[in-house]
Formats: sequence, structure tokens, C-alpha cells
Amino acid sequence: MFDPTDLQWSNGFASLGEAFYTRLPTPSHPQGLPEPRWLATSPACAQWLGWPANWQDAPHALAVFSGSTEWPGMARLASVYSGHQFGVWAGQLGDGRALWLGEVQTPHGGVELQLKGAGTTPYSRRGDGRAVLRSSIREFLCSEALHHLGVPTTRALALVGSPLPVRRERIESAAVVTRAARSFVRFGHFEHFAHHGLHTELRQLADFVIARDFPHCADAPEPVAALLAEVALRSAELVAHWQALGFVHGVLNTDNLSILGLTMDFGPFAFLDAWDPRRITNHSDDQGRYTLARQPDIVWWSLHALAQALLPLVSGEAVLREALAPYPGHFQARYAELMRAKLGLAAAQEGDELLWRDWLNLLAADKIDHTVAWRWLGDGVMGRVRDLFIDRAAFDTWATRYRARLALEPEAADTRAARMRQTNPALVLRNHLAEEVIRAADQGDLAPLHHLAAALARPYDETADNTHYTALPPDWAGDLELSCSS
Ligand code: AMP
Ligand code: MG
Repeated sequence: MFDPTDLQWSNGFASLGEAFYTRLPTPSHPQGLPEPRWLATSPACAQWLGWPANWQDAPHALAVFSGSTEWPGMARLASVYSGHQFGVWAGQLGDGRALWLGEVQTPHGGVELQLKGAGTTPYSRRGDGRAVLRSSIREFLCSEALHHLGVPTTRALALVGSPLPVRRERIESAAVVTRAARSFVRFGHFEHFAHHGLHTELRQLADFVIARDFPHCADAPEPVAALLAEVALRSAELVAHWQALGFVHGVLNTDNLSILGLTMDFGPFAFLDAWDPRRITNHSDDQGRYTLARQPDIVWWSLHALAQALLPLVSGEAVLREALAPYPGHFQARYAELMRAKLGLAAAQEGDELLWRDWLNLLAADKIDHTVAWRWLGDGVMGRVRDLFIDRAAFDTWATRYRARLALEPEAADTRAARMRQTNPALVLRNHLAEEVIRAADQGDLAPLHHLAAALARPYDETADNTHYTALPPDWAGDLELSCSS
């Protein structure tokens, strides 16, 4: 039997002191969900933590993960951060509905656990501290789906629902997601202390992040510049994955950017169906700041905001500029590797980039489904791919070039096809798939949610069981709109 009193808690962030957070122990903050009910859990996340499959049966688990009580050793708190939203300084934000439970030791190091939606905190501003079922299902599914696609991301352990009504555009029911990550520190945590001239705390935070998450930076001549260089590399890696997959985060404010380069804070995100890199997925984003096409530049901009915040900790601007400089090149190189793999190319050749750019332009011109087109291309059955296009002549011209390029490959066609099937997913968390399981869960039917979660854990498999998920999206999928509270 899993005994939570055996868990070891290190609570590194809590050890920073009260300038960084407000403690919210359960006696003074009993805002957990009323009438909580398990809606879903992630076996893969539990496994990552080293917890047994039946961990939910542990004493008080449901009360702990709906926010009403705590296990011994937890140190519940809400942290303070600030940030730039939509490119402008937004001042103090902080964990308005996220609640840190603590950092638990696992067989491979500490992992921080947070509840999202467990009630108001001193940083809730005018918010209610809650999360609705819809957005919680989306976060739960997407964080695990990205993980299974090999994309750096915060994880999701559990999803708990409640009949508690929550007012958004309409009345919805409340839910709490338990999320897990090695660190939930955001760019905005650094910006907060820099903005207020709190250089002692700024230094303390940088030292903490370096010591725990980037220990090799401690030996660099300028450890903080080395830290920034690491964050830039990880961010480049992250965005390369998003671009290759067609994943739009939707709200890349600096308070939603992870110091570890993890995808975090899932709101109006989308995996693009029809390939349209300029599509606005967040209907509060009038200017199209957060479209897929702009993600590499927006993260680059945000890294400069982080650099600005770190300036008091280094010898001068030059070392920070130097630390950031590799970002564009690193992004390009990683993106190229991923795109080459998507095309099934084992070795790099001059002209490969033009090949995938032209392919993407073809997809954009005819608004072809991104996931299906790549998957079918990998099957090597060109006739089926061709049928996706309106402009068949344009496709044929491109396909001739592609075949000529493949002829230069050392690998046999079936080996390549097998590899491409492990590279181009058969299914991603399309908005309409999330919508379907949300509607069912709203009516009390959790089977579709569980079925989809299980399928997303094996995104490269095509089985008799997941044809609904691997098919082209229905017409109504194109009309779904998402707001920040999605
Ligand atoms: P987000 O757009 O979700 O990244 O949130 C931006 C800021 O608003 C963060 O400080 C959140 O904690 C806060 N926030 C978002 N929704 C709520 C809510 N329902 N209650 C309290 N604070 C919230
Ligand atoms: Mg956020």
C-alpha cells in the first residue's frame, strides 16, 4: 500500500523565504472543491513520480488533490511573479489560482506539484481562483499528450471535478488539475524582483535555480549569463518542437514561459488542423501576436525581457547579449533536424529546407490538414496524399522533387516508412476531440475522456480503436473559438 507519509519532501522553492510567496496551509486556506470526484489520472505521470498505479487509494488522496487538506511534508504556497502580457508590462500577477503543494522526491530527483483551481490566493486580483472543467480537461490532456510526443512540458497527474458552479462566459462546473514539473519557475518570477529593485532576492532566485536545475552553470565565469544561455537553448528546442508539430501555445506572455523550457499554462492552445501558420487561436489576441508563425520571435523577445531582468546580476549587457546570441541559430538547427526527420531524410543535403518549405506552402495554399498530410506522406502512398490537394499539378511537381531527393537516401523505403511512423504522429489533441470529451464529461460520461487520454499516450499507433482520432476533422472543428479561460 502506498503510504504518503513515506514520501520525502524537499520543498526547495519554499526554502527561499516569504519574499517569494505566501504560505497557504489548509487550516487557513480550506478552499478545496466541494463534493470532489476523480475524473481522470495519468498512469504515465504517476510512474514518473515513482508512485504505484493505485496511489489514489492512499489516505485522503482525493481531499489532498482537490485542495481541502494536505499530506504531511507538503508546504502549500502561492508564489509572486510579474510579467509582460501581450508585449506590455503587466505588473504583479502571481499564482492567482495555482497552489504549490511542495517538491516531492522521486527516484530521479525533485518534482514540484501544483493544484490549479483550488481557490483564491493573495495574487488572485479579481479572479475567483477557480478553473472550469473545460479548461482543466484541456490542460490535463494536452500536457500528457505533449509529453508523449516528446515535447518538453509540465505534466498532469490528476483531474478532479466538482459540482461547484463557476461563472465564465456561461456557468460551468469547477475542476482541479494536479500538475507536475521539475520547476514551475517562470521568466516572470525574475522580472518581478528586477522590476522592484529587489536585487538580493533576484540574486537568491538565480542562485536557487542554478543550484537546483542548472548546477553546471555554477562553475562558469558568469553563472547568471550561463543560466540565460541555457534557458535560451532550451527555449529554442521547445519552439522547434512546437513549430514542427503545428502546436500554437496561444498566450506566450513572459509569465507563461518556463525557466526550464517547458510548455506551461495551457489556455487557448491549438494543434493546427488546416495548415495556417497565421491563424489566431486565442480570440483575445486581436493583433495575432501569438500565432504559430510568430512563436520563435515572441520567445526571442521574451528572452530579452528575461535578460533585462538579469542585468543587475552580471558584469554588463555584453555577456547577456552573448548568452542570447545562439538562440536563432539553435532554433533553426533543431527545427531543421525535426523537419528533415518528418520528411524521412536521414542525411542532410543542400536544398532540404526548400523542400519542406515548399511542402508547407502547398499545405497552406490548399488549407490541408497538417497532421494527416505528414502522416500520409510517411506512408509513402503518394496517391492518397495527392487526393488531399486541390492543386494536384502543384503537388505533382513537388512530389517529383521529393522522390528525386529520396533516391539519394541510403535507407530502404520500408525502413524509412517505419521511422516516419515514429516521427509524424497519427493523432494529436485536436480542439474538436477535446471538445467532444468535454461535452460528454459535462453530462457525466467520462468514458470518452479516458479513451482519448489512453490514445494520446500512444500518438504514433494506428489501431482499430483510434480511427476516430486519426481521421480528418469534421467541418464543425473549424468554427471552435477559444478564450484565455478556455
Ligand atoms: P493566465 O492568463 O492563465 O496565464 O493568467 C494570468 C494571471 O491571471 C495569473 O496571475 C493567473 O494566476 C491569474 N488568473 C487567471 N485566471 C484566474 C482566476 N480564475 N482566478 C484568479 N487568478 C486568475
Ligand atoms: Mg499563466
